[in-house]
Amino acid sequence: MNGSGVRLVLLGKPGAGKGTQAPLLSAHYGVQHLSTGDVFRAAVAQGTPTGLEVKRFLDTGELVPDDIVIRVVDEHFAVGGPLEDGFILDGFPRTLVQAEELEQVLADHPLDLVLNLEVATETILHRIAGRRVCINCGASYHVTARPKVNWTCDVCGGDVVQRDDDTEAAVANRLEVYQRQTVPIIDFYCKLGKLVEVDGVGEGDEVQERLIKEIDGRYQPGRS
Ligand code: ADP
Repeated sequence: MNGSGVRLVLLGKPGAGKGTQAPLLSAHYGVQHLSTGDVFRAAVAQGTPTGLEVKRFLDTGELVPDDIVIRVVDEHFAVGGPLEDGFILDGFPRTLVQAEELEQVLADHPLDLVLNLEVATETILHRIAGRRVCINCGASYHVTARPKVNWTCDVCGGDVVQRDDDTEAAVANRLEVYQRQTVPIIDFYCKLGKLVEVDGVGEGDEVQERLIKEIDGRYQPGRS
């Protein structure tokens, strides 16, 4: 890496496609990918102290308290490599407190862009009802787009299952929490001139092309 990789945040409702698009973009631009949801799910699965702390929030679709999230993100930034090498954040920030904290952490290497994946709520409900994810690497599938062999991940061979928080009640709560706590940060980034809206409906490839077009149109590789 040359110390000038793109620095991105992906925003969008639960099920908007952040978890599908972020790994593709991270491979395309050669930058680290941090999904706070994946980090928390792994911590719960491994029964770590953080996992025990956050499990009840994940199960009900509530947000994990900001202080825990910020601690976990700091730990990941510390081991993920220099921030100026670039990154894609997915699922963070999710509250104004987290967004303001991120601006401080990134004072010397600010965000290039915040991409908001736009998808209507009815589409989200259909996607999440059929969604299945790999418990190992987080790759996403759907009952209509299954892995090649049974429910074994095409990418890593892990088990592909329904997420515990993809139940109707938890999804309804996650959408409500998103409106109340995450929508305000769209305005925050709009005022900073960093927000770009991207249509998140369509095949994964199409959405990825739209995202890359927006990023390449606005980001100059080689900026410090
Ligand atoms: P989705 O966007 O589909 O709801 P994620 O995988 O991003 O799913 O997050 C799953 C859960 O992890 C959230 O419902 C919340 O409990 C917790 N979580 C993830 N990121 C954050 C964050 N930045 N702040 C607070 N809670 C978070």
